[in-house]
Amino acid sequence: MNFDYIVVGGGSGGCVLAARLSEDPSVSVALIEAGPVDKNILIHVPAGLALLAQTKAANWNFSTVPQKGLNGRTGWQPRGKVLGGSSSVNAMVYIRGHKADYDHWAAEGNEGWSYDEVLPYFRRAEHNERIHDEYHGNDGPLNVMDLRSPNRYVQDFIEAGRQAGFRITDDFNGADQEGIGPYQVTHRNGERFSAAKAYLTPNLGRKNLTVFTEAHTTRILFEGRRATGVEFRRAGRLEQIGANHEVLMAAGAFQTPQILMLSGVGPGGELAKLGIGVVHDLPGVGKNLHDHLDAVQVVVAPQLKETFGVTLGGIGRVLKAIPEWRHHRRGILTTNFAEAGGFVKSQASEPIPDLQLHFVIAKLVDHGRKTVLGHGFSGHVCVLRPRSRGSVTLASRDPMAAPLIDPNFLADPDDVQRMVRGFRLMRGLFNQPALAALGGKEHPRSANATTDAEIEQFIRSHADTIYHPVGTCRMGNGATDVVGADLRIHGLEGIRIVDASIMPRIIGGNTNAPVIMVAEKASDMIKAARLSGAAPAPQVVAFPGTAAHAATSLAA
Ligand SMILES: Cc1cc2nc3c(=O)[nH]c(=O)nc-3n(C[C@H](O)[C@H](O)[C@H](O)COP(=O)(O)OP(=O)(O)OC[C@H]3O[C@@H](n4cnc5c(N)ncnc54)[C@H](O)[C@@H]3O)c2cc1C
Repeated sequence: MNFDYIVVGGGSGGCVLAARLSEDPSVSVALIEAGPVDKNILIHVPAGLALLAQTKAANWNFSTVPQKGLNGRTGWQPRGKVLGGSSSVNAMVYIRGHKADYDHWAAEGNEGWSYDEVLPYFRRAEHNERIHDEYHGNDGPLNVMDLRSPNRYVQDFIEAGRQAGFRITDDFNGADQEGIGPYQVTHRNGERFSAAKAYLTPNLGRKNLTVFTEAHTTRILFEGRRATGVEFRRAGRLEQIGANHEVLMAAGAFQTPQILMLSGVGPGGELAKLGIGVVHDLPGVGKNLHDHLDAVQVVVAPQLKETFGVTLGGIGRVLKAIPEWRHHRRGILTTNFAEAGGFVKSQASEPIPDLQLHFVIAKLVDHGRKTVLGHGFSGHVCVLRPRSRGSVTLASRDPMAAPLIDPNFLADPDDVQRMVRGFRLMRGLFNQPALAALGGKEHPRSANATTDAEIEQFIRSHADTIYHPVGTCRMGNGATDVVGADLRIHGLEGIRIVDASIMPRIIGGNTNAPVIMVAEKASDMIKAARLSGAAPAPQVVAFPGTAAHAATSLAA
């Protein structure tokens, strides 16, 4: 069975590609997703996020290797395993990053990726319900809105920001990112609006779009250096499909490099040691992993009954909220928990914000995987452009095994210093009259840390990812770069990467909207290549054994 394009991974990047490429009815597109259809109700009720973390539904649940910088601890690395990918399990904060991030990509030689050049793709993707200006889109598939039923304590956090002297903003994605304010979210009508809901679900009726779910890609098929198809495991059987034009890798920052390495594309020596035949020795595959490390300071405040908390009253409020959400799509179940935050400078000399804050209306411990009794709130801080770099490598040649994930957190002392300043900055906000008046108390776990050395120890003992791994197939033209500015893999034909892996350096903010932008831009490049004849003429590649296992088309 052949398709013009095969998209590997139905997450943020993959859903955009599948939808945009299948707009042309003469083009056939297959999307291969390891997880199921996004039916789980916890995905769609925004507050379901908390239970998704605890039940581990729709999630790969990866762990890091022990992190030297985190006192030998192993970090958690959740990733969505479902249509919509991580956009189906994320915290729904809509952020693009700083203008300077994209200008930096372009300055490194990635032509076409400056802020002015990517802004049209952010706008094309976006349907902002509130903001109508030259920075925002109002006709795109991705709905962006203010929270419908914001928590009352959000205003106290913002007021504390004002009292501390920060700029207050209600748009982090416009002319100026800096400041403190409420986050806009990828919701529509009080529901999560994942990349699947925005791009894929509305287009499942297209006859030229075939979606394979619960289909685990095991390797890319090559003839010489040309990608010709994909092998995947579904219902216990191996199947193969062919690509007339291109294979498009969108399996995310951990699994795109993993699948490439399993297919013989990566550091030749490492692959040979595992007995994998080398198709193309590309040393940068899996390198340059970096991520936002996040420190959480919890404030205990039993009297703040309108925060989310495990108490009799708190559970009662949630139970009462179920019919409100069911009938009106309003109320506390529309929360994304990280309702407000900010982009601030850890010291006055910083040219642009180097820290992001998230204000969470619950006592968050261990990513919400641990049930914590009582009420309160949490202040998160992360360093936006960490210098530490790690890697993704293969644990074995078994495609069903998890890769070895090593973000190498806090390897660079500069990251530690910024985190310590960020921790102090968050405490400074807690101490402003607006938050202090709420009468909470910082939990002794962090409150006992007062000197720089103690704060550093707290961070090393408790911080973990805020879920933005990127960079493992870096875009650029150097020896360790993996894709060029057109996202084609260096040295190979018929294959591109369109997900968080390609970011040369992480953007200053949350990564869902940026990946969607990358895929919007990629879809134009892919279409243009086909129309200009730059892609090879369609060819039929026969793979044995596929005919008997016809694709499950959700469109059917
Ligand atoms: C808990 C959490 C909270 C987050 N919060 C936010 C937030 O509030 N705002 C924000 O902007 N960003 C947030 N992010 C980050 C953001 O969601 C991701 O950066 C973004 O979704 C990544 O897109 P992607 O296309 O690179 O990968 P993904 O969306 O992860 O997609 C990869 C897809 O590939 C599939 N796949 C992987 N391996 C295979 C295989 N072998 N075969 C077939 N399919 C495969 C996966 O199942 C998945 O569906 C969060 C992420 C998480 C996990």
